[in-house]
Amino acid sequence: MKEIAILGSTGSVGVTTLDVIGRFRDRFRVVAMAAGRNVELFAGQIRGFAPELVAVATRQLADELAARIAPLKPRILVGAEGAIAVATHPRARLVMSAMVGAIGLGPTLAAIRAGKDIAFANKEVMVVAGEVVTRAAREHGVRLLPVDSEHNAVFQCLEGRPRESVRRIILTASGGPFRAWPSDRFASITVAEALNHPTWKMGAKITIDSATLMNKGLEVIEARWLFDLAPERIDVVIHPQSVIHSMVELVDGSVLAEMAVPDMAIPVAFALAYPERLPLDHLNRLEFARCANLTFEAPDAAKFPCLGLAYEALRAGGTMPACLNAANEELVAAFLGGRGSFADIPRHLETVMGRHRNGPARTLEDALETDGWARAAARELIGAGAERA
Ligand code: MG
Repeated sequence: MKEIAILGSTGSVGVTTLDVIGRFRDRFRVVAMAAGRNVELFAGQIRGFAPELVAVATRQLADELAARIAPLKPRILVGAEGAIAVATHPRARLVMSAMVGAIGLGPTLAAIRAGKDIAFANKEVMVVAGEVVTRAAREHGVRLLPVDSEHNAVFQCLEGRPRESVRRIILTASGGPFRAWPSDRFASITVAEALNHPTWKMGAKITIDSATLMNKGLEVIEARWLFDLAPERIDVVIHPQSVIHSMVELVDGSVLAEMAVPDMAIPVAFALAYPERLPLDHLNRLEFARCANLTFEAPDAAKFPCLGLAYEALRAGGTMPACLNAANEELVAAFLGGRGSFADIPRHLETVMGRHRNGPARTLEDALETDGWARAAARELIGAGAERA
């Protein structure tokens, strides 16, 4: 029996994780879970999986939760402390790190330092503090098993291969809902249009990031740390059907691809059971005769400046990726809240990056200081824009 702790159980990956665990109750047991504010969904999950320890954002939510799950009485903790207790639960062998945003950094790092293997779905953690996180993982001998579908694909293609045999990796991107839109329509993009992703069903933040191609930019940075590759060895290609989840090119020119229906149950199950494989008989299989049309194109750098900004942040190094991520989180939240336009996201992002005084990102404190600064800088730009409007 493998005991699992879940950070972010009510998010899209968290829900998928519990669905997979629910199908294999003879192999996995959930000992601890942390969620944010969705107490209603969380209560149902607690009734379904009976963990010993749970955490929510605030004391008030904890009281509400306790009332909803009675007579069940797991230990209920709150805030960052609660999430860290979940991440370091003494019996957990693997922690599913599936919060959204830099908020997952503290608990994920605590789990690594407690020697837990990590199923890694919280890409912002790697963008903000990739050097700190990967160093801690080496020092504590823990595995970082990628759940992001692209990185999971690359991990599968790389497995057992000597580093010298790899020329580059190629991350695929669906291109989001605006791939074929003319650039003059970008100024009027609505939240509903941006949330309408063509191939993947995901949470709001990552769906907006997919529409700006920032998601791919964050994934390039994530790949740099997960696979220890220089930026020039990480390429991106638009592949709208999302059948190939990413590729690895070897030095002899061979290209290996991982292909499957676009369903997060596959990478989630891979990470939970590693190195074993789970029979996911409930999923549709890839029917080649029906999806014969696989297409590829280069990303349009002019229409989607966020991808270029992410490469720029990666090449600059230091705290610039943390700056990029924090400003993006604020700008996406503003767009979702009706306080900024779609086109404001790359525009303000470039301004914040231009103002950031870059420095080394060797410690958690370096990353967090930049995170705070960039959020404030982005909010100031959003506020100024709102006053003009
Ligand atoms: Mg992805």
